[in-house]
Amino acid sequence: MTLTTDPAATDTTAGTAVAPAAWDRKIFTGRWSEGHGGTIDVVAPATGKVIATVGAASTADLDAAVEAATAAQKAWGAATYDRRAAVFRRAAQLLEADPDRLLRWLVPESGSGQGKAAFEVGLLVAELNESAALASHPYGELLHSSKPRLSLARRVPVGVVGVISPFNFPAILALRSVAPALAVGNAVILKPDPRTSISGGLALAELLADAGLPEGLLHVLPGGAEVGHALVVHPGVPCLSFTGSTAAGRKIGAAAAPLLKKVHLELGGNNALLVLPDADVDAAASAGAWGSFLHQGQVCMTTGRHLVHSSIAAEYTAKLAEKARNIPVGDPTDPANALGPIIDAGQRDKIHGIVTAAVEGGATLAAGGTYEGLFYAPTVLADLALDSAALTQEIFGPVAPVITYDTVDEAIDLINSSEYGLSVGILTSDAFRAFELAGRIESGIVHINDQTVDDEATIPFGGVKASGVGGHFGGARANLESFTDLQWITVQSTIERYPF
Ligand code: NAD
Repeated sequence: MTLTTDPAATDTTAGTAVAPAAWDRKIFTGRWSEGHGGTIDVVAPATGKVIATVGAASTADLDAAVEAATAAQKAWGAATYDRRAAVFRRAAQLLEADPDRLLRWLVPESGSGQGKAAFEVGLLVAELNESAALASHPYGELLHSSKPRLSLARRVPVGVVGVISPFNFPAILALRSVAPALAVGNAVILKPDPRTSISGGLALAELLADAGLPEGLLHVLPGGAEVGHALVVHPGVPCLSFTGSTAAGRKIGAAAAPLLKKVHLELGGNNALLVLPDADVDAAASAGAWGSFLHQGQVCMTTGRHLVHSSIAAEYTAKLAEKARNIPVGDPTDPANALGPIIDAGQRDKIHGIVTAAVEGGATLAAGGTYEGLFYAPTVLADLALDSAALTQEIFGPVAPVITYDTVDEAIDLINSSEYGLSVGILTSDAFRAFELAGRIESGIVHINDQTVDDEATIPFGGVKASGVGGHFGGARANLESFTDLQWITVQSTIERYPF
């Protein structure tokens, strides 16, 4: 790790100065309003400085938001597609013309390296364009009928969608639910993670309002799990779109079940990178480093287990450790730093606890294992016991555990032994063999000759097993299924006659 933590660097970013009046101590209810849950200081994890203060919502604010959203949704759901599409096209144009309106918050607030943040903004633009297209996507089908009648199934908005999102890719993980849900005619109530209320919520609301989204359709209610729980059990919110940890997802699923809500849960991962013996070791180590260290490993798709054939494991581990030692880590407002801070001290301590326990259990520390403040050194662990928490748990930090295997069957069993099933990468010079192996792997995503972290607005993103249930995000088909209900309609010209 090369640490560069020049505090002066943060002062060059506009977002670290004074909060714009728009959301200073405010929540968003279609306009900037006082929240009744107090305020939340937004802290830049790289510096510990308060960079803004936003409003916090109370459960009374939530009740008012659901009432306003329910009322506003009626006209929006009945509006023509082009009316809705225009808002998302305009939002994409505004963001493309001025990406800094988001970047200036995203980088300091979430501790995002500038490459990661630019990638996230690119995803936002794509998501907005796909949502514009979704508004005009065919929304039903003609069905055969044994009677002389018109029979069709069409998709109708669910009404009000509740979105709960995490801190790590705060903007896209909120917008990937908010934009398509709105585009197909719903209203949305978004509760971002309180550590990223601006880039994960308020800045997105400002963008959509500037693009012409009518008042009342989107509400952003900053707050913690308490407001999130109130949203989950609110009877006026029939559909929930949650991205976050498996532990919270289990609680949300259980709380929503008695209310018979439509619930989408996108949860944690412990993703494997399978390096076959015929892989190019240099390229594999580069892919592996990216998969484990991007955004400090705080990605659901982070490569959490490197399964490397025993014939190349020593060379792979050495190359991965070499990369780990040379990645510049520091305040992400300085573009020289590829990696930034861990989101907070609690998460850093969890990472360090897992690494320390692994080493105490006999693992070799090939690189890292130390930290300064919230900056955790990219870490490589080898010779791990298979029941080590570093292998079985989602670490959510820049830690690359390497284990070896001898046969492909053994490797597939190791991959599938995880309770998670989000993303797997297979690196090899025989791509078709890997394609055949993919059929034996329990994972919502498999990349052949790439590492585990990727997303596009056009694809149905989602995990299996403890990584997710209830639907996928992305692409017209998955988004329509997630944010609409099906309605069967028949039409005949005369009243049907019956025996009595
Ligand atoms: P978290 O589950 O603690 O928090 C996520 C959001 O849920 C926050 O807004 C939080 O306030 C809210 N929340 C927490 N408990 C709640 C409850 N009981 N009821 C309602 N709302 C509640 O997540 P985290 O640990 O901060 O984020 C990282 C986790 O998110 C990791 O496990 C990561 O893998 C996962 N994640 C998954 C995806 C995916 O697409 N599968 C994407 C990003 C992150």
